[in-house]
Amino acid sequence: MRNREHGFARKNSVAFGRRAEGGGRPAHCSEPGGSRPLPGRVRPGSGADLPQSRRGRQAELEAGGPSLETLLKLRHGHWLEYGVEEALGAAGRKYISQLRVSLRHGKVPVKAHLDLVLPDEDGRSLTVLELKSTAKLPGQVYPNHEAQLYGQLGPLSRLWNRPDFSIGDYSASHTFPELAERHLGIKLPKSAASVSIRGFVLAVSPQAARAFGPHEPNAAVLTAMLRTGAVIWRHLAAIRSGQTTLEDVPHCSGVQSTCTYCAYNRDCPKFQGDSHPELEQELATLVDLKAARSDLEAEIKEREAQLKALAALMGRPGQWINGRTHRFRISSQAGKVTLDHNLLKSGLEQGDGMDEKKLSAMLASAQKVGRPFERLQISPINGFSA
Ligand code: SF4
Repeated sequence: MRNREHGFARKNSVAFGRRAEGGGRPAHCSEPGGSRPLPGRVRPGSGADLPQSRRGRQAELEAGGPSLETLLKLRHGHWLEYGVEEALGAAGRKYISQLRVSLRHGKVPVKAHLDLVLPDEDGRSLTVLELKSTAKLPGQVYPNHEAQLYGQLGPLSRLWNRPDFSIGDYSASHTFPELAERHLGIKLPKSAASVSIRGFVLAVSPQAARAFGPHEPNAAVLTAMLRTGAVIWRHLAAIRSGQTTLEDVPHCSGVQSTCTYCAYNRDCPKFQGDSHPELEQELATLVDLKAARSDLEAEIKEREAQLKALAALMGRPGQWINGRTHRFRISSQAGKVTLDHNLLKSGLEQGDGMDEKKLSAMLASAQKVGRPFERLQISPINGFSA
């Protein structure tokens, strides 16, 4: 999660498992970025009569840089990461942080960065943690986080006993067993096949943490990721050599969460379009309404949590609890069923001539069932005068 380099374009490699921040375009973006200040784009008015969220935006634009709120959000992940490391240390767990694995995929240099690697003392098993800071814990792992983890587990397992691993200032490279013995005093087998390697995405919020996994090294997913990395690399080389322009590079149209805070989003090709400054007021109002909705949803969630806790204290699970004009109950719901895209894709790639039975089995194996959850139902009691 912590990023010690910024922008793959300047560091000459494709990277798996790095979180982008202030110093350059995030690694998932296709433009080789130079550092440019973001000038104010909208000419704001006085701001005295604007709602709080818009005043914050206006201050940000007038100052020509990110607000303190934005900067704090960007640092959030670092604080949580240090917190996790301290907690592991206090629990007596040995770990290596910010491990780098360097490899070449054809002519493409690739670097995988692993947040935390925890070999067991007996050297028989090892856990990889990909840390994700989040305001609230997700119910399920995000596919892009899962993909990052696969992009780390694969190189770790494949290059295990080759001198392609480094930590610290990354100036010296070793095999992974050498690093583990040198820094942790743990002896690991010379072959990754003798070690149980498991990876988890560890989502950490200020209040709690949740691990998603275990995931194991998956050669098919790694191959697909390396193929994607090579395509990005080829586009970059073509731009650098003047064979193509950034505008001609295909890019995904979805908005990443990082786009909201990105200092380059003003002229990012992903957001190219017509200019209609007269719509600014309308858009700002909508943004404020959405922010208000978000505040309202947070308050609803907090109040629901209080009622759920109260119902549990009353020992009335599943039973209606009556107020004067409203009643509520807490019911248990089965976890949501979703499809794991990576498993589905690798199943489809291997599924030539698949009959209906095999297709059903493959779909069933690609299914993920979320955790059961509790739902609060609230209903009016009729027949009373208010
Ligand atoms: S705006 Fe989004 S897609 Fe564009 S460079 Fe920034 S993070 Fe990448």
